[in-house]
Amino acid sequence: MRISVIGTGYVGLVSGACFAEVGHDVTCVDLDAAKVERINAGKTPIHEEGLEAMLGRLVGTRLRATTDLAAAVQGSDITFIAVGTPFDGRHIDLGYIRESARQIGAALRGKSGYHVVVVKSTVVPGTTDDVVLPELERASGMRAGADFGVGMNPEFLTEGVAVSDFMRPDRIVLGGIDARSVDVQREVYASFAQTPTLATNNKTAEMIKYVSNSVLATLISFSNEMGNLCSTLGGVDVADVMRGVHLARYFSSVLEDGRRVQAPISSFLWAGCGYGGSCLPKDTKALVAHGADRGLEMPLLDAVIHTNLAQPARMLALLEAQFPSLDGVTVALLGLAFKEDTDDMRESPAIPIARALVERGARVVAYDPIANDAARAVLPAQISYAASLEQAIAGASALLLVTRWSEFRRLPQLLAGRADAPLLIDGRRIIEPGAVPRYAGIGM
Ligand code: NAD
Repeated sequence: MRISVIGTGYVGLVSGACFAEVGHDVTCVDLDAAKVERINAGKTPIHEEGLEAMLGRLVGTRLRATTDLAAAVQGSDITFIAVGTPFDGRHIDLGYIRESARQIGAALRGKSGYHVVVVKSTVVPGTTDDVVLPELERASGMRAGADFGVGMNPEFLTEGVAVSDFMRPDRIVLGGIDARSVDVQREVYASFAQTPTLATNNKTAEMIKYVSNSVLATLISFSNEMGNLCSTLGGVDVADVMRGVHLARYFSSVLEDGRRVQAPISSFLWAGCGYGGSCLPKDTKALVAHGADRGLEMPLLDAVIHTNLAQPARMLALLEAQFPSLDGVTVALLGLAFKEDTDDMRESPAIPIARALVERGARVVAYDPIANDAARAVLPAQISYAASLEQAIAGASALLLVTRWSEFRRLPQLLAGRADAPLLIDGRRIIEPGAVPRYAGIGM
């Protein structure tokens, strides 16, 4: 099929490349000419395992990028909207969604053949039918259902493993205003026939995405609250507690050969310095605001958000327990991206932690295996950056481990036998407390 994808961020570019990989002809569209040029040169503007190799194989054959949205829409049978949907401080900001719907509608004016427009961005329930559809009708002068189709296909990929998530999805959710809108999407996903596929209306598809993210955020904040209690109790470590919880048969199953496998959901039942990223923080806030607009208070999700906002400060409290004044103290910030295997800094807990350290006069040396460059744009200018883990920890009095990079598992080996070993504050609980000379961790 001929597909156009609007927006070449994490979702748009990965989706576009993967659609091309399974045989479709794909045109990716972005406002940002520099991104478009980079993609057309076979280079990815974002760090995603396997993506650059895919672009290398497909750009110039079944995949291309352009800034010309109208031409891309007119030359395709289906258009996916994958633009950003940020939180504006009070509500979801649908500005990019509205504008892209308007442009797509204008491009559809006079286009022959049945076209389907699908929202892939995460949008609050009702957006596709009540915002996108009317905008498309207005700008095209055509009627949804009769002249073109409208669908909603939420994306569940995880940054860092986005390509493999997309190529091996756990589910495909296809919303649509009618059977035809869904059926055209089924053709797009024809090569994923083994994947459970749920066809539903647009509002339900939108809600599935929010509930999926909210349950993960809830488990994380719940674990953090339990960890915060453990640290006030003394003599109980939340890591041991959670290991005990994970052994329940609903979190781990016993295979026929007797081996025990832990359910992946257990990884969200683990204490740390809080969740970040481009999805969980903004999506939970947008959903609570959406409920409030309809007169529904959501105290549980509200508490999830507030627990998370307070969590980075726990790292500072652990540090200040040992260094009452941070003035002139050299602190290494280990991990800057919101999670491992990505360079995405959006809403990373490293941001409030770095700001607080600088405000308190600490000398901050930051290190991330791949996000140093992205971090420079958002962290305070006073911070210096190390080129390696060894360099980052060399002169530091304290190490704050913020991101679960597997490279940091080398810390026990690097710190072994050092008489002047720095204090390690483990914000992800990935190092055994006894494995380094001086250790403090969230939830103990
Ligand atoms: P992003 O901010 O990385 O990328 C959005 C891109 O859209 C930008 O490059 C921007 O220039 C472009 N754009 C905006 N308006 C445009 C227009 N009118 N025409 C052409 N291009 C336009 O966003 P993202 O992280 O890829 O997220 C996109 C959506 O997918 C969001 O709703 C997000 O919540 C959702 N989502 C994200 C993830 C994730 O892991 N990042 C996962 C699932 C869903």
